[in-house]
Amino acid sequence: MRIYSIEILGKVGEEVELAGWVDSRRDHGKLIFIDLRDKEGLAQLVFRGEDENLRKKADELRPEWVIQIKGKVVERPEEMKNPNLETGNLEVGVSELEVLAKAETPPFPLDTDGYEINEELRLKYRYLDLRRQRLKRNLVIRHQAAQFVRKFLSDWGFTEIETPYITKGTPEGAREFVMPARLHPGKFYVLPQSPQQFKQMLMVAGLERYFQLARVFRDEDPRADRAYGEATQIDIEVSFMSQEEILSLIEEMFIELVGKLFPEKRITQVPFPRISYDEAMAKYKADKPDLRENKEDPNELAFCFIVGWPMFEWNEEEKRWDPHHHIFTAPRASDIPLLDSDPAKVRSWQHDLVLNGYEIAGGSIRITDPEVQAKVFELVGIPKEEGRSRFEHMLEAFSYGVPPHGGIAIGFDRMLIPLLNEPNLREVMAFPKTGDGRDLMTGAPSEIEEKQLKELGIEIKKKK
Ligand code: ASP
Repeated sequence: MRIYSIEILGKVGEEVELAGWVDSRRDHGKLIFIDLRDKEGLAQLVFRGEDENLRKKADELRPEWVIQIKGKVVERPEEMKNPNLETGNLEVGVSELEVLAKAETPPFPLDTDGYEINEELRLKYRYLDLRRQRLKRNLVIRHQAAQFVRKFLSDWGFTEIETPYITKGTPEGAREFVMPARLHPGKFYVLPQSPQQFKQMLMVAGLERYFQLARVFRDEDPRADRAYGEATQIDIEVSFMSQEEILSLIEEMFIELVGKLFPEKRITQVPFPRISYDEAMAKYKADKPDLRENKEDPNELAFCFIVGWPMFEWNEEEKRWDPHHHIFTAPRASDIPLLDSDPAKVRSWQHDLVLNGYEIAGGSIRITDPEVQAKVFELVGIPKEEGRSRFEHMLEAFSYGVPPHGGIAIGFDRMLIPLLNEPNLREVMAFPKTGDGRDLMTGAPSEIEEKQLKELGIEIKKKK
């Protein structure tokens, strides 16, 4: 059976079978050395040239060819040992070689960290780009972080529940992706900016503790520091917990996650400071303060929670109040009278988690009182009737016994940037798009066939 390169450790004298890619080759006269790369690392293969046929085959090998070999694990001669490689004390003397696939020369080197390579080229050949050690490691750690979160929350009694991606929108400030509904000509689904309404419905349903590693979709304008279109959130909603209880839970999750997966990192301050919005603005002139003691230190993690947010911000263009978070965020009970008299002064139950100056999570305690909800619709310019019809299902659901609830969504890709010491989101995602929304590997977005357009009842207007 084929084993991983790393598994030759402890197998000196044994026959093994390895398979993978030719990482590099070195010819030393009669000897040919091949570094064989697989998912777990590298192992040195040596062709000694005793078998003329085998040697000839080895001579043809080129980088990135896929091969399978049989051979014997031996200790390398002392002067050939490589302390920088996990398997560096050993090599495999090859007795059988099979070429499984030949390979073109890759368009860029794969044995560097890749930052120096044109990014569009890297994205076009993402499947090659991902062969580099750094990106492979990022994906593996990303997986481990996801596994950790799933286990942590499950241990706390949370249930992971999938919510629809083909749905109706919740306004959360970003432009929505729309999708024609073939079976209902003239109607559209939208891809959710978040599972917000569904997770709240799950609270009405009595699930009490929900989470989901959810994909969220936001059709935002190009920004250099963004990966366009979709992101992953650790989406959470709980019933019967106070804001402080929610924050403590998230805090504990991050402390354990860092301790387990990123032990080289140091958290600046535990417990994470809870800072009111006013204090943050007064003291740091920022609602996402970077509280690191030493900004040069790549291993410092400064978390803080920002609370006490204003409920609304004035939208001069539209002459209305915009929710600072979203329309389901609850005002502080004591500020409810201000909804009528002075909306600017209303504080909400929003909470954000900031890490090294980046907002990595946001959430709130929710409105459960239909009167307050109606008031908020009115203030943000959703006419009464429209508010009632667009969110009827929620208002109705809340009339059947709604528990107090709240939640948070953690930007999973976003949080991995400082944890993996990467400069942007694209380095922590498998198949990111360019900032302006192109998938250079598959060529999306692209035209669709006339027949498909017809089925959807869509006509493309030519640009004049
Ligand atoms: N839906 C919110 C967001 O995606 C998070 C929340 O309120 O739980 O930012």
